[in-house]
Amino acid sequence: MSFSDRLESLTQQISHSMAQGPLTSSAKPPIIIGASKTQPITQLQNAIHAGLTHFGENRVQEAQEKWPTLRAAHPDITLHLIGPLQSNKAKEAVALFDVIHTLDRPKLADALKHAMHAQDKSCRLLVQVNTGEEPQKAGVIPQDLPPLLAYCAQLHLPIVGLMCIPPADLAPAPHFALLRQLAERHHLPELSMGMSEDAAIAARFGATMVRVGRHLFGERTG
Ligand SMILES: *Cc1c(COP(=O)(O)O)cnc(C)c1O
Repeated sequence: MSFSDRLESLTQQISHSMAQGPLTSSAKPPIIIGASKTQPITQLQNAIHAGLTHFGENRVQEAQEKWPTLRAAHPDITLHLIGPLQSNKAKEAVALFDVIHTLDRPKLADALKHAMHAQDKSCRLLVQVNTGEEPQKAGVIPQDLPPLLAYCAQLHLPIVGLMCIPPADLAPAPHFALLRQLAERHHLPELSMGMSEDAAIAARFGATMVRVGRHLFGERTG
């Protein structure tokens, strides 16, 4: 299957799933972010030619190696950081990305504030929520979300939404429902949730952005 075929099939799965859910019958379909970690430049070019304009990378350094040239040639691309970010990489992340999905602690909020101010650039930010409260996983636990959002508001950070990665071995729907509830409570419009296995379900629960890797690019080799 070509990249366009896979993109088309994903789009259809999403709209079919949304049509079945009463929750979001009037909602727009989510933006599809191609999760392009480990994908070589030729695959990215394929995806761009198939019409994909949103891409998500996990590592700042890998993105710095792959994207500056491509972006110069395709200025309409939006680049998302979807992997964990260390505070000492905030400067590089702000320079390269348009949207950062993984803000999850006050120290990183400080570093992003500092970097955006120094570069006179504003990235849209999402707070990652560890909805499954898994000890090994990044993200703020739901209970600590309100104080973190309050802190970000004090810094005047442009927080636009929430992101989650549900536990791998559990049904994702309750996690998507929880994230949506939290976003509504805090008046945040963007919901980044859903990957290859569950993008269609996430869309039904109100995702505004899905992050899809294998379904679009095939299995990762790297
Ligand atoms: C890799 C990755 C994805 C995409 O995963 P697939 O299962 O390949 O669709 C989505 N979100 C994050 C944070 C990722 O690291």
